[in-house]
Amino acid sequence: MKHYFISRPAALPVALMVATFMIVGVLGIYMLPLVGDVTRAQAKPAGKGSFKVGASPRRSDKSIKVNMSAEDRQALQELAAEMNKVFALPQDVYLSVNNCGVANAFYDPNSREIIMCTELIEYFEKAFAKEFEDKEEAAQAVEDSTMFVFFHELGHALIDIYDLPVTGREEDAVDQLAALIVADGSEEGAASVFNGAMAFTVLDGDELHESAFWGEHSMGLQRFFNIICMLYGQDPEAHKDLVNEEVLPKARAQRCPSEYQRIEKAWGTLLSPHIKN
Ligand SMILES: [Zn+2]
Repeated sequence: MKHYFISRPAALPVALMVATFMIVGVLGIYMLPLVGDVTRAQAKPAGKGSFKVGASPRRSDKSIKVNMSAEDRQALQELAAEMNKVFALPQDVYLSVNNCGVANAFYDPNSREIIMCTELIEYFEKAFAKEFEDKEEAAQAVEDSTMFVFFHELGHALIDIYDLPVTGREEDAVDQLAALIVADGSEEGAASVFNGAMAFTVLDGDELHESAFWGEHSMGLQRFFNIICMLYGQDPEAHKDLVNEEVLPKARAQRCPSEYQRIEKAWGTLLSPHIKN
C-alpha cells in the first residue's frame, strides 16, 4: 500500500500522463480569457512563490506525518512543475501525501499546504474494489478520484492565496474548478471526471460523512449530479449518453450547457490575472 497516487506499481508513466493532461486542460481553459487582455497582463503579480513538494515549514499539526513513496513524490513534483508554469503564486504552496489518522484531504490556510491523506486513498481503493469487478478499472477510478480531490483542494488553495471573491458555497465552486480542469475535452478527461464524480456516490451516507472533508460539502449525490451536469454541459453532443434517469435527468440536463459556460467564464475571470503568460 505504498503507491497512493499510483495504484499499480508499474504505472508511473500513466500517472504522470494523467497529471500532465489535466494541466494541459488548465492551460487550454485559462489561456483563452487572457488573449488580448493587455491591461490585466501588465498588472500581474511577480509571483515570488511556487508549488513545492513536502510538508510546509509552517505546519503546526504534528499528528499529520508525511508518508510519500518515491513514486508519489515524483508524481507530485511533476504536477508542481506543470502548475508552476501556469500559476503566478505570491507565496509557496506545499503538496504532500500524509498519514492523517482520518480518511481526508484538505487545504490548510495557515501552513499553506494541500494535504492528501493515505487513509482517503485507501478508502477509495476499498470502495472501488466493490464497485468494479475489473481491477484495472478500479485502480483507474481510485486514481481519478484522488486527482479530482487534489484539484478540489487546489481550488481552496487558489481562493485563499489570491483572496478570490466567491459567491455561493465555496465547496461547490471548487468542485466546479476540479471538473473544469479534468474535463479537458478528451475522452480520457471525460472518463476521469465521471470517476471523480463517482467518488461522491461511494462516499455518500457512510462513516466518512461526518469527517471534515466530506461534512462541509453538499450531499454526495447532489455533488455527483452537479459534476456530471458540467461534463454534459461542456459538450452536450459528445456526452448525450449521460442523459437518462439514473445519471442525468433530462430536466436537469437542459440547464447544463449554460451552467457550464457561466462557471467556465467565472473561473476564467477570477484566475486570469494570476496566470503566467
Ligand atoms: Zn472542500
